[in-house]
Amino acid sequence: MADTYENYVDGEWRASETSETFEVTNPADTSEVVAEVQDSGESDANGAIEAAAAAREEWANTPGPARGKLLRETAKRMDDRREELTETLSREEGKTYSEASGEVGRAVNIFYYYAEKAMDYAGKRSKPSANDQNLYTVREPMGVAGLITPWNYPIAIPSWKMAPALATGNTVVCKLAGDAPTVFLKVTECLAEAAEAVDAPDGVVNVLTGSGSEVGQPIVTHDEVDAVSFTGSRSVGDMIYEQATDAHKRVQTELGSKNPTVVTDNADIEEAARTVGSAVFGVTGQACTATERAIVEESVHDEFVEELVDYAKSVDVGPGVEDPGMGPQVSESELDSTLESIETAKDEGATVEYGGGQPEGSEYENGHFVEPTVVTGLDSDATVMQEEVFGPFVGVLEASDTDEAIELANDVEFGLSAGIITDDHTEANRFVDEIDFGVVKVNGATTGLELHVPFGGMNASSSETYREQGEEGMDYFTIIKTVYDDY
Ligand code: NAP
Ligand code: MG
Repeated sequence: MADTYENYVDGEWRASETSETFEVTNPADTSEVVAEVQDSGESDANGAIEAAAAAREEWANTPGPARGKLLRETAKRMDDRREELTETLSREEGKTYSEASGEVGRAVNIFYYYAEKAMDYAGKRSKPSANDQNLYTVREPMGVAGLITPWNYPIAIPSWKMAPALATGNTVVCKLAGDAPTVFLKVTECLAEAAEAVDAPDGVVNVLTGSGSEVGQPIVTHDEVDAVSFTGSRSVGDMIYEQATDAHKRVQTELGSKNPTVVTDNADIEEAARTVGSAVFGVTGQACTATERAIVEESVHDEFVEELVDYAKSVDVGPGVEDPGMGPQVSESELDSTLESIETAKDEGATVEYGGGQPEGSEYENGHFVEPTVVTGLDSDATVMQEEVFGPFVGVLEASDTDEAIELANDVEFGLSAGIITDDHTEANRFVDEIDFGVVKVNGATTGLELHVPFGGMNASSSETYREQGEEGMDYFTIIKTVYDDY
């Protein structure tokens, strides 16, 4: 029997008022139930928002170091449960044990990082134009922060929203993604124990499961929510952005992308293929920063494709917990959507160089497995070269020179993470200057981020309102008061 998790609201674990639950299954073997969680409704969301609103003042008035203590005590408990969190993440989301372990480690470090930041993030002092004056800014919490998160980094993303929100004195209501909520429900256990240990007020942290339309919607529109932070798909994100701005809330959305990696003719092609391969097939291509377009200079195109196909062949597919090269996709609908994109690519004239379907064999029968897939022969305006394919899929485009490669790299509506593999320092710097993407990697995979620097997209990948992570991640959750004090 799988464990059943309740919502955490107002300092206690509560079953949903709907009395409904749903099962979270293992995408490598859907007959395995990982957990049962609450299928909450609107009234649960409203209850959580009211609890967060009631705790708002007390938490805002709690000194920064004491708020940091809640985060540090949470991080310690997460650290103690690292293996359990890793296994749960791998089982419910499908990523490999190594990938899951990396994500869990990152989440632990995020809590530690903001625990320290909570001590000195306050505002700044300036020199006034006259004597006998103090001139300074104070950063005050926004109030109640509503957090809506996706399944693909189901421990890291709720952590990188919640930790800075709490550190800056906000109370939070977080709706987890239905496909992989369990790992953060375990983090919520750590938060609940930590809250008890440091005597934090009830209602500071509220975490719920349930569908986006039932539980997500009230978080976007309720009067008592002051700031909405959303990560997920473009279609849902754009809708939420409009609803939240109409309701005069601060809103931040971080969405999908169509990330390029440019490979120039002077690059070490074998190494370039390894770097691109890891950025395409890592976490089964289900990273918002995954490379989906390799843009390769003509003279090295064929050699690159050959090396990339060799890399794809070397990726062994299997259940995440067995730590293969690549796990399954998270759900049947995500798998279907990848397979559909491959069909679209073929219809539009693509040559499938490797993969293109589901792997065969009894071990794959009960899971959402797909082959690592490499296609060539498409133009930049092909559907699958413009729209996000959230699976292990890459299209290789040919460019006559670096100028054309940069032009093609920018030829999408999205703008999250872009890379260039080159031996030419000048070309690399020109790429950095000219590329319209929020993250730029020179000689590195488009995936993989440091937690202490800002992260976010440009154009259709983001509301472009604020950045997440690093110290900048705290700015979103605060508002500035400017004080002129004559004495
Ligand atoms: P999604 O379908 O947009 O869902 C994201 C969250 O929004 C889920 O918790 C979902 O709930 C909820 N939701 C759905 N409909 C809603 C509504 N009407 N109102 C309020 N909330 C609603 O995205 P996903 O499939 O989980 O995640 C994959 C996408 O996220 C990809 O496009 C990826 O590129 C993007 N992503 C971006 C970043 C970044 O930082 N830029 C990072 C990671 C992922 P349920 O699904 O549980 O119903
Ligand atoms: Mg979805």
